[in-house]
Amino acid sequence: MVKIHNFGAGPAKLPEEVYDIIKDELTNFDGTGISLLETSHRSQTYFKLNTEIQDVVRRLLNVPSNYKILFLAGGGQGQFAAVPLNLISRTGTADYVVTGTWSDKAAKEAKKYGKVNLVLPPTDRFTGIPDVSTWKLDPNASYVYICTNETVHGVEFDSIPDTKGVPLVADMSSNIMSKKIDVSKFGVIYGGAQKNIGTAGVTLVIVREDLLNQALPICPSILDWTVTAKNDSILNTPPMFAIYVMGRVLQWIERKGGLDKMAEMATKKSSLVYKAIEESNGFYYAPVAKNSRSKMNIPFRIGSPEGNDVLEKEFLKGAEARGLIQLKGHRMVGGIRASTYNAVTVEEVETLVNSMKDFHKQHSK
Ligand SMILES: *Cc1c(COP(=O)(O)O)cnc(C)c1O
Repeated sequence: MVKIHNFGAGPAKLPEEVYDIIKDELTNFDGTGISLLETSHRSQTYFKLNTEIQDVVRRLLNVPSNYKILFLAGGGQGQFAAVPLNLISRTGTADYVVTGTWSDKAAKEAKKYGKVNLVLPPTDRFTGIPDVSTWKLDPNASYVYICTNETVHGVEFDSIPDTKGVPLVADMSSNIMSKKIDVSKFGVIYGGAQKNIGTAGVTLVIVREDLLNQALPICPSILDWTVTAKNDSILNTPPMFAIYVMGRVLQWIERKGGLDKMAEMATKKSSLVYKAIEESNGFYYAPVAKNSRSKMNIPFRIGSPEGNDVLEKEFLKGAEARGLIQLKGHRMVGGIRASTYNAVTVEEVETLVNSMKDFHKQHSK
């Protein structure tokens, strides 16, 4: 069988070393003689693991001591509801910066719980992030919401916007732990694990303590950050295995050299793909403005800016024959999308780029 290279957007590739550890620990966790899968969430074993994983998050992101680290269920979309449920009560209104599918969905969910102000003019072509000077921010907003990396459209913030003291809330599902960030600039950071740091089931939430204790009375306890924090993320049975996998991935990141190393690799990998696109004389086309191009998800078209279904299908088929899989663009936008998360190696990206070059050559006569 040909070696598989997984460029999927999520659930995405996990590091091979982490699989080895999981296999090793699967049926006898931490010397207990049983699997974590059948261990009580009230056990000392789990409590120790829960603490260990909070600690690695704190170290990697240098999380200040006035922030809580929480593990929640319900995925990224669970937090689309949790954010307004926990935060909108202060003024009843929130600012949403819609730069792609995911922030759009988050804004729509938030409307159930309060007034949503759209900071940017509505569009369905998401190809960049308008300059902050053009944003229509409401000084009365309870918070400003952004998605730092739009997984479907490949639009990534290259800096943290200044929200003039209004708490900044960021969905980092697809670029969390891809680089260092200044956590103190954010009120809340969250990310579903299944893109860059683990498997589906757990969402990592980092929240500044002064933003707790203001959830709407209708907020379900399992989405309530204050209740979760009080219970050290063991309110009910947590998605323990997903939390464990995330922990092992984060420890792998630390062993590999931490977030500076991840950032260096992300720049290297994404540059290889963007360079191949730029040097193709328009055969490959990347729709996103250069300063907003994602280092994690790279969408591109083939043949023309609108794409060419026949060529794109043929490309995907050829790539698959070489073991390059899950490269199909999101069903909403079509085309091709290469996700170059932490676990994807430079060698794998080089294999993809070679495949792109060969395909172009075949079609340039
Ligand atoms: C995948 C994704 C989500 C949704 O995550 P689910 O866990 O499927 O709910 C939200 N935001 C971003 C940026 C994503 O990439």
